[in-house]
Amino acid sequence: MDVDKNPVFPMRRPLLTSLSAVPLVTAITALPRASMAAGAMPANWYDADSKKIQREIASRSGTKIVLLGTGGGPVIGRSRRQTSVLMLHDEDAYMLDFGLGAVQQFARTGTSFSQVRSLFLTLQRPDHTTDYGPFLLQGWIHGLNSSVQAYGPPGLTTMTGGYIKAMKHTIEFWSESFDIPPLKPIATQEFTRGGFVMQDGTVRVTSALVKHPPVVPAFGYRFDFKDRSVAFSGDTAPTQSMINLAKGADVLIHEAMYVPAMGVSMRDDAKRQKVGFDAVVEHMIADHTPVEDVGKIAQAAGVKELVLYHLAPPGSHLTDEDWIAPAAKYFNGKIVVGRDLMMI
Ligand SMILES: [Zn+2]
Repeated sequence: MDVDKNPVFPMRRPLLTSLSAVPLVTAITALPRASMAAGAMPANWYDADSKKIQREIASRSGTKIVLLGTGGGPVIGRSRRQTSVLMLHDEDAYMLDFGLGAVQQFARTGTSFSQVRSLFLTLQRPDHTTDYGPFLLQGWIHGLNSSVQAYGPPGLTTMTGGYIKAMKHTIEFWSESFDIPPLKPIATQEFTRGGFVMQDGTVRVTSALVKHPPVVPAFGYRFDFKDRSVAFSGDTAPTQSMINLAKGADVLIHEAMYVPAMGVSMRDDAKRQKVGFDAVVEHMIADHTPVEDVGKIAQAAGVKELVLYHLAPPGSHLTDEDWIAPAAKYFNGKIVVGRDLMMI
């Protein structure tokens, strides 16, 4: 391609030339190719919270679940980021959902993109999908394997190819800068019913349709690792299908809504979204699970541990006890209130 004739890149050559004089860029491009490919960064590039989760991950063996974002809904700029989860077993990594911030949170765990085996989506909502494309784009230059596959509801294939098409010029720029082949769409598998999703040497994955109208389909997932089984609700109102999916699991990670605090939160949302308070209330009640009901679901499923995530409202004004007490009325096992960068 003749970049000088392409109006999208009028400054391309001069820009590349000038960038090469910037120390940071020099430092990045001077990193050994193997280091770039593995996504490894020098330890002193990380902040204290990142170093803490990295130490925790390194200190434990077996299956580890790292909550990257635990806030419910499309909120931004609050103490909890949007929904995303990383699962690790030995050197294999799996991602579930990609709310805004997922790429950055993933990187903070020190996990290499080259460890990632499969990606999963629970539903087509921006608070679960915003960082899906950026994960592919950033992963591409940091060692994400092109054999990685993504699984989820219809729209996944369009989102994968469409994002890469939209970022064509950006991709061409990095392809030349880093001297690597352009990013291509990864393989995707869409499904509309619950059941078996995939299996590799590390994990067996199944799904169940959950209840989140008007979004159809919306899925809960179950990951059976060799040493541990974990079920995720995604976004759902109370549903028997989640009890069935989580039956006997070691851990149930379920969305939760603290109803007494929803009034203020929903009034704020209604003002911002211009849809009206009643409509927001109707949506929340029809689509999400009060934390009391989460306790009932965990008890009925007979899980050992319940972790609350996708918290609504996602602000930091609620204490752990506020969340735990209503669920503990109905569930006898261990209850954990999820936090960003918490390892389960
Ligand atoms: Zn959500």
